[in-house]
Order: sequence, then structure tokens, then C-alpha cells
Amino acid sequence: MSTVSCCHRMHSRSCYMILTLAILCNCVVLFYLVHKQNDIEVRESGPQRNELQRNLNNLAISYASQNPVVSAFEGEVTIVIIEFEMFENDIPGTVRSILKVFPLIRIIIVSHKRPYPPLDLPNDNVQLVLQDTPVDQRQSTGRPENYINTPYVMVVPDGTRFMTNYLPNNVLKTLKKLEKTSVKIVAVPVESRVKTQCDNLKVDLKRWTMEYSASVNQSGNFKLCGFISPDPVVILKSAFLHSLSVPYVRPFLQGLFIQASVHHILTKLLYMKSFSKGTELFTNPHNQWKHDRNFRKRLIDLYKRFGIKKIVTTTGKIEWFGCNRDTQRCFGTVVDDIPEYIYLSKWTPPCCLKNLRETAKYVFQLLDQSNVKYWLEGGSLLGAARYKDIIPWDYDVDIGILRDDVKKCQFLQKADDLSRTGSKFVDSSGFVWEKAREGDFFRVQYSQFNHLHVDIFPFYERNGIMTKNTWFKTHRQDTEFPAHFLKPLTRIEFVGIRASAPNSVKEFLEYKFGKGVIENPQYPNAEKLKKKLSLNQQYKIAKIGS
Ligand code: ZN
Ligand code: MG
Repeated sequence: MSTVSCCHRMHSRSCYMILTLAILCNCVVLFYLVHKQNDIEVRESGPQRNELQRNLNNLAISYASQNPVVSAFEGEVTIVIIEFEMFENDIPGTVRSILKVFPLIRIIIVSHKRPYPPLDLPNDNVQLVLQDTPVDQRQSTGRPENYINTPYVMVVPDGTRFMTNYLPNNVLKTLKKLEKTSVKIVAVPVESRVKTQCDNLKVDLKRWTMEYSASVNQSGNFKLCGFISPDPVVILKSAFLHSLSVPYVRPFLQGLFIQASVHHILTKLLYMKSFSKGTELFTNPHNQWKHDRNFRKRLIDLYKRFGIKKIVTTTGKIEWFGCNRDTQRCFGTVVDDIPEYIYLSKWTPPCCLKNLRETAKYVFQLLDQSNVKYWLEGGSLLGAARYKDIIPWDYDVDIGILRDDVKKCQFLQKADDLSRTGSKFVDSSGFVWEKAREGDFFRVQYSQFNHLHVDIFPFYERNGIMTKNTWFKTHRQDTEFPAHFLKPLTRIEFVGIRASAPNSVKEFLEYKFGKGVIENPQYPNAEKLKKKLSLNQQYKIAKIGS
């Protein structure tokens, strides 16, 4: 009895063992096959490989269309790769690693022109979008948004590797939880020798300025950032991305973070995790140089497009992207005393203010040295009284001098002499002196190219009244005034120095502009501006307060 049952027991044990062995064998065979297929994908190349890949994909797609096995991630996310160099990239490796984890996902490669040398990519799943639409193609073919029908977009830096579906799924899940908050982007770093940097980013369009500062907004496993470097993987809603002014601008992440900051939108950085990285790019110094040069050029174009002329870094260093001595000034001829940037809801570009200050200081110093009496006039004196500086939306600096003093300053005298021939001259510091063609006054320009300027108006006394020969109809403040305001002159803080000014500044300003002018800032020619605005609703003027 006991032997039988023992034998029976033994028999069933060997059954288990055989079964287990068979399952194991199956697993090994399956594993080998899967591996073999991956090997083929990696090793084979050229049209043969494409053919194979296409067949595999077609199979997968037809299978998927009959069977609901498209994973949630594949159904909801389109992968976009936009940031890469044609001369050296890891796009094929990146694409293959993504397709290995998500065989059915849609991948879009965005490029300005057809990549050369051509990218070795599978034909299915991957769509190449050429932004500079060839002349014989529809404009719509060049817009990536026309190829995206998933609710989410994941933008992946060149060289990223997907190892498993865990991290991508996790990032998507994190983003979904952020619904209805001001955090609309989730980012994960890509392996790098450089430490991931998370900064706050403040964009002030009115002042053409962008300011970085160190972010302290962090918790155990995430940080909230306005800007992240080096390039992370980001995921966001397609609708949000496509609501931006230029969704697919390059450099992509700089463009995205700036546009997000304009709308006060933050990025959640999951800094405890990171995506793997494939081959190291630009190990050849020449290619690194080429990449840096291209990147810089794209960045400058981006700042120009977004109207960013001044950047303050986290360390407080200032980078300028606006006008300088060798370029034109940032705005054209001023009509009706209203510079064009006011119609753009902006104030004077900071580079122009900086260059104007420099010109003003130079002129004041020169006049002081030549014993020419000068005083701040109109808007410049108003700026001094209000801000100790140029009014933030003013476009020049105006001063008065005594007409009899012209001969004391060799540059003024020379400009006066040259005016008969209609010419001007450049002094040894690069400033340009001329007698204005518009009337009896002098103008000192920042440089031959950059016409930011200080206007110098020669006044003379007649019966206790200071008068001159040229008047501007649009300038309310351009009037005669009692000579006692100049007897004596005083000093007032302006553009960082103590500039010469009429005495009784407040009285002088109210005499010229009207009562309460210091306390109540107004744009120049405000009446005309209002009329123009009501004629054209699309104008929106920057608020003076704030
Ligand atoms: Zn400028
Ligand atoms: Mg002025």
C-alpha cells in the first residue's frame, strides 16, 4: 500500500519535472528567437534591412489593428526628434531603441531640409517632416502638428536610449496627474557627464529681457523648473505644444522653455531617474566646434524672433543680443514722437538705453571739459527727476546749451562748419557729430551705424526769456522759458553721473509739461496715440505702472 502510493507520488513528481523542463526549454527558445530578431534589426542595414523591418512592422500593425494590444503609451504618445545635427547624429540608434520597447509607436523626425547624408531609418512608424517645404509641396506637409493625432508628445534628444517601458510610462503617468495645474511639462534627464541644472526663468517681453535664477523649488524626487539643461526628455500635451507661438522652433528646448515661461508654465523635473545614452556625439573637436557654431546661430535667431536682447544669468552676468556700435539701432525713424516699440507693447530695448547712457555721459563730460554750459531738457530732465535715468520708453537724450558757447567746443564748432557742406564727422572715440538737417540743433550719434543720439539745442536769451530757432510741433515741452531757471544751473543724478540741470527742477518741468508731470507718467504724444489705438484694435500698449 505504502509502496504504491510512494511510487505514484514519485511518478507525479517526475511529471512536474518534465513539465517544468519543457516550459524552461520553451522560454529559452523564445528568448533566443526574440534576441535573434533584435540582432537582425541592429546588424542588417540598407534596403534589405528596411524591407525586413517594413514587413515586420506591417505584420505588427495588421496584428495590432485586429488585436487591441497597442499599449496605452503607444496609443497616446507620439515621439518627436528635432534637435540633431545632420553631419553627426545617433538618430538611427535612438529610433531603434524606442521601437524595440514600443514597436507600434509613431516617431516624427523634424528637420529643416532633407537630412544629408540620409538617415538610415525604418520606413514605417517613422515620419520625416521637412519644415522648409519644397516649392512643389503643400505648406501643410512641413508642419509636424499635421502628423500628430495622439494627445501627448514626447520630445527626445538625439542619442537617448529606451531600455524598458517603465520610465516612459511613469513620465506619462506623472504628466496626467498634473491636469489643471500650471505645470504642463514633465522632464527626465538623459545620462550625462554634466550635472542637470534646474533654473527659474523670468521673461519680461516689455523690457526685451530674460533672467535666470537658481531654482529652490524642489521636493524629495522632483524639482519645478523654468529651464533645464542639458537637454532632457520632455513630455507634454500635444494641444499645449501646438498652442505656442512657434512649437517646433530650434533650439527646441530653449524655445519651449522661453515660450512656457512667457505663459508662466513650469516643468516638473524627475531628477532621480534618467534615460540612458547611446554613443557619445561630437568626440571630434572639429565636429564639436561645428555643432557649437550651429547651436549659437540658432539661439541668436531664436532670441531675435522672441525679442530677447538682454539675458541675466544665474550668476548675474549679462549677455547682450541687441544693437551695438557696429549695428543699426533697434528701432527705425520715430514718427509723431511715438517710437515703433510702443505700438508693440514694449519699452526701449535695454541695449539702446545702455548705448544712449554711454553717449550721454560722453557728451556731458566733453561739454564740461570745454566749459560749455548745458542742461537736461524735456524728457531727459523728466527722467532724471522721476528715475535718475532715461525714461524707460524714451528714445533719445535732449539737452540745451547757450548758443554763444558753441565755439568753445571744437566738435560742435567743427560740426557747425561742416554743416554748410552737409557733412558730419566721426571723432576719435567713434561718436558722430553733426548739425541736424531738421533745424538749428546739433546731434551726437553713438556710432556711424547706430544712430542712437543726444540732441543739443542752442538757446539764446531775449528779454529774460530763453528761446531758439527750431521748434518741434509734436513736443509739448519744446517751449521758451524764463532765463532765471538757468541762473544758476544745478546738478541732478542722471544715467549714473551728476548731470547739469536748470534750478527748481519740478517748477521747470511743470512749466514745460504741465502740473503733476513728475508723478503721472504718460507716453509722449498720448492724445495721438489714443486716437491711433482706437483706430486699430490690435494695438495693445504696455502698462506704464509695474
Ligand atoms: Zn538696441
Ligand atoms: Mg527726447
